[in-house]
Amino acid sequence: MKILVIDDSTGQRLFLQSHLAKMGHEVVCAGNGRQGITLFRECGPDLILLDVIMPDLDGCATAREIRACGPHWVPIIFLSGCDQTEDIEAGIDAGGDDYLTKPFHPKILGAKIRSMQRIVEMRRRLVAQSDQVNALNTTLTRLVELDGLTGIANRRRLDRKLAEETARCARNQLPLSVVLIDIDHFKRFNDTYGHLAGDECLKQVAQALERGVHRPADLVARYGGEEFCVVLPETDPDGAMRIAERLRAAIAALVLQTPHGETRVTGSIGVACEIPSLGVESESLLTKADAALYQAKEDGRNRIRQALEMPVAELPA
Ligand code: GH3
Ligand code: MG
Ligand code: MG
Repeated sequence: MKILVIDDSTGQRLFLQSHLAKMGHEVVCAGNGRQGITLFRECGPDLILLDVIMPDLDGCATAREIRACGPHWVPIIFLSGCDQTEDIEAGIDAGGDDYLTKPFHPKILGAKIRSMQRIVEMRRRLVAQSDQVNALNTTLTRLVELDGLTGIANRRRLDRKLAEETARCARNQLPLSVVLIDIDHFKRFNDTYGHLAGDECLKQVAQALERGVHRPADLVARYGGEEFCVVLPETDPDGAMRIAERLRAAIAALVLQTPHGETRVTGSIGVACEIPSLGVESESLLTKADAALYQAKEDGRNRIRQALEMPVAELPA
């Protein structure tokens, strides 16, 4: 272990240094509390041996400052000539983990150091495990919101995003747009080319849609089956219609490889935009986009329809 010795007595420092070195430890020495705190920050020791009576900053004050440095715990053993119950109590209350009264047998110091070493190692393992668990949790949280087939955001992520953006846009009185895309005659595509080709088509469409939006706050999600939803925060109806047209063209431009050769698909699109009111369900926007999408299908597919009652552009320049 790397052991920091904080003691104002040169003799005591030399004694500890030679004994600890013999036990195989690396030793760093400080002649007063201030220097000890600086060395603690600079060299990150595994254990601190701390004298109690020192000029200026005494051992208890030094321990309190070291504990205030952060959550990273390092064991502190007090080594002191003060052997009263209150001294020991004060040392432990100041942040010490053990208290050894001088004079002490070097073997007892060795045993106490070994006991602290066990705790340090156990703590190190626990911290490493908890880091692993945290990393796994982050991965799981991410996976739970991704669509398994296409790799883009799934319905769960979409719902969360819509709720967040509805609240944010309501608070700032900004327009929120959604674009709902449904692949045309996709059942026929599956029947003709097979489900594997259908799956591949969904992946290609998902990627094309992702390439079609550029702002960091935009989100492309798989809404379900062969339907996708794009959330466009702070985007007015004109902007949403422009993006919808870009997405429609991107789908139509895809050349898909199938067992029967190359083919293409088209998508029908419904667009809705509103400046959300506080407390109004984000679902209403999706319902409006869905009605517009239905109209696009009715009107012949591969086209875009806008929901009625779109707000006038009110975006700041
Ligand atoms: P429309 O133009 O009216 O939208 O017709 P459609 O055939 O696309 O619509 P419908 O809702 O009748 O059919 C959707 C099809 O999408 C049915 C289903 O086989 C297919 N589908 C849904 N999810 C998947 C999937 O994960 N993989 C594949 N390969 N096909 C899927
Ligand atoms: Mg559908
Ligand atoms: Mg469809």
